[in-house]
Amino acid sequence: MELISNAPTGPIEQSWDKHKFDLKLINPANKRKYNIIVVGSGLAGGAAAASLGELGYNVQCFCYQDSPRRAHSIAAQGGINAAKNYHNDGDSIYRLFYDTVKGGDFRAREANVYRLAQVSVNIIDQCVAQGVPFAREYGGLLDNRSFGGAQVSRTFYARGQTGQQLLLGAYQALERQIGLGSVKMYPRMDMLDLIVVDGQARGIVTRSLYDGKIEVHMADAVILATGGYGNVFYLSTNAKGCNATAIWRAYKRGALFANPCFTQIHPTCIPVAGEYQSKLTLMSESLRNDGRIWVPKQPGDKRAPGSIPESDRDYYLERRYPSFGNLVPRDIASRAAKAECDSGHGVGETGLGVYLDLADAIKRLGKHVIAERYGNLIEMYERITGEDPYKVPMRIYPASHYTMGGLWVDYNLMSTIPGLFVLGEANFSDHGANRLGASALMQGLADGYFIIPYTIGNYLASAKPAKVAADAPAAKQAVANATAITKKLLNGSGNRTVDSFHRELGKIVWDNCGMARNEAGLKKALSQIPALREEFWKNVRVLGANEEFNQSLERAGRVADFFELAELMCLDALDRRESCGGHFREEYQTPEGEALRDDANYSYVAAWQYQGEGRAPALTKEPLTFNYVHPSQRSYK
Ligand SMILES: Cc1cc2nc3c(=O)[nH]c(=O)nc-3n(C[C@H](O)[C@H](O)[C@H](O)COP(=O)(O)OP(=O)(O)OC[C@H]3O[C@@H](n4cnc5c(N)ncnc54)[C@H](O)[C@@H]3O)c2cc1C
Repeated sequence: MELISNAPTGPIEQSWDKHKFDLKLINPANKRKYNIIVVGSGLAGGAAAASLGELGYNVQCFCYQDSPRRAHSIAAQGGINAAKNYHNDGDSIYRLFYDTVKGGDFRAREANVYRLAQVSVNIIDQCVAQGVPFAREYGGLLDNRSFGGAQVSRTFYARGQTGQQLLLGAYQALERQIGLGSVKMYPRMDMLDLIVVDGQARGIVTRSLYDGKIEVHMADAVILATGGYGNVFYLSTNAKGCNATAIWRAYKRGALFANPCFTQIHPTCIPVAGEYQSKLTLMSESLRNDGRIWVPKQPGDKRAPGSIPESDRDYYLERRYPSFGNLVPRDIASRAAKAECDSGHGVGETGLGVYLDLADAIKRLGKHVIAERYGNLIEMYERITGEDPYKVPMRIYPASHYTMGGLWVDYNLMSTIPGLFVLGEANFSDHGANRLGASALMQGLADGYFIIPYTIGNYLASAKPAKVAADAPAAKQAVANATAITKKLLNGSGNRTVDSFHRELGKIVWDNCGMARNEAGLKKALSQIPALREEFWKNVRVLGANEEFNQSLERAGRVADFFELAELMCLDALDRRESCGGHFREEYQTPEGEALRDDANYSYVAAWQYQGEGRAPALTKEPLTFNYVHPSQRSYK
């Protein structure tokens, strides 16, 4: 298969405008003749459904929560980037583009990233118009702070609850369309399969989470905005419900999966406290604006942090990366924390922790300023750990947080299945091998508010999808498939819980395809995962019935998909014999321990195609070319 990116050529500054002009339009009266399915009501899906409803399309929007407002985007904390240059500190669209391509370690498509930087400025205007209460300075102007990988302040925020406020904005726009009748909302519905007719995406199969009823929904195009797959690691900062089922089942229907091994391990999370923990909590990267990261200079130093004098502390990020200091990108900060802990400098009972210390900032700015900026995060930390960060430094450690990999999409955000579009964290676009902080919200909203409304019209106008009946053979076959999986899960008479399998799988993936990877470990994981998967199908016990609210059944289906995805991640990680961004192959590193890319051989997007049960997936490469930001060894020193 050849991957055609449809990325425009010519001057990059004009390419999106020119592309938009070249896209076909559908006249306003005709839009209502088209049905569009949007799976997902987070920032990407909510923004898309609201915008498409506003344009006049008939939209059906699905989510598995009880309300679209509970999508995982609500949890986002620190902020959203935009190249507004309000601080007059040298920012520009070009600089945001540059920082993002470099931050992603030169593994993203330039044209997409430039467009993202361009529309970032519109996002802020859109959200302000919706009433999103971004933080303001004393004079009333919108405030900004800094995030990793940038030397300017371009992050807009609403305390540590930016995702919540942005989602409320998108949700209200969505509710308005629901009220007007252009969007029909289907909460508590799980998409279990994609319906492909004559090579085009024409619908989905859903299971009602209330009563297990399986339904077919047909449309002229399908949008997946179903979030990331960070929960493959079991322990992650993602909401417990986040899963890969929608994109995985689309992959099995022919959509290529790009860069599955590109996952983000976030440096500042509350460390794991015990064997039975099921969730990790993020402490936003924004804290690194004012918090200083350090460990004791002496390995094994067990003194309380307050008793360790300045001379015995190592502010290792400031020492190793003087230009960016505590605000180096996440992949670099995470690896540095791991290196400190591996060499015995880690703190806390397990030794898997480093300090994030607000003391200097409190002394300089006063406690009230720190409380204004991060109050809710500090309160959350105190509730979980019982320690007061105003008095003792926080203990933090890296954790799975975000997935840069996802379904492959072209410049129009269309997957390799015509009519199937993928938005937000569910697609692979824009962030390369490492995402910069505050760029996921930007991408999700760019996709939903500003890109898909143009590109989907072009598809519908060109493809002119014919009517397909809900009992078409492809729909029946997808229903049979979804029903069979549910039955198989419920029929098992084993004695292990779904969670025990998920925890074991997560540990294999974390140990071998997490913050550091190597050939031997990946090969080991590739033999362990299929064996554990086999045991899962033989020995899993799913209690309850299909016809009721059954979260054990929901989880079982998702874990079954994580098993298959985990294998693809390891295969992709094994195949990419270089280090880049969050993909750190221990065999390929510079003498200073930084990621060592191999541009001559690996400057491509790795897109995997499903070949059927028991057969190895096929790899297709989309070569990456860089005409503006020339690949170099990333330096934040
Ligand atoms: C704790 C935390 C803090 C973060 N903070 C920031 C930040 O400050 N700045 C930033 O830029 N990024 C941040 N991120 C990342 C960012 O929040 C996410 O990448 C982003 O919100 C994802 O949005 P989305 O719309 O793509 O998906 P989501 O918000 O995850 O929404 C997915 C939607 O798909 C639906 N869905 C999924 N599967 C199915 C299915 N099978 N059937 C039906 N519906 C389905 C869900 O119900 C949901 O509505 C943070 C992430 C975490 C975990």
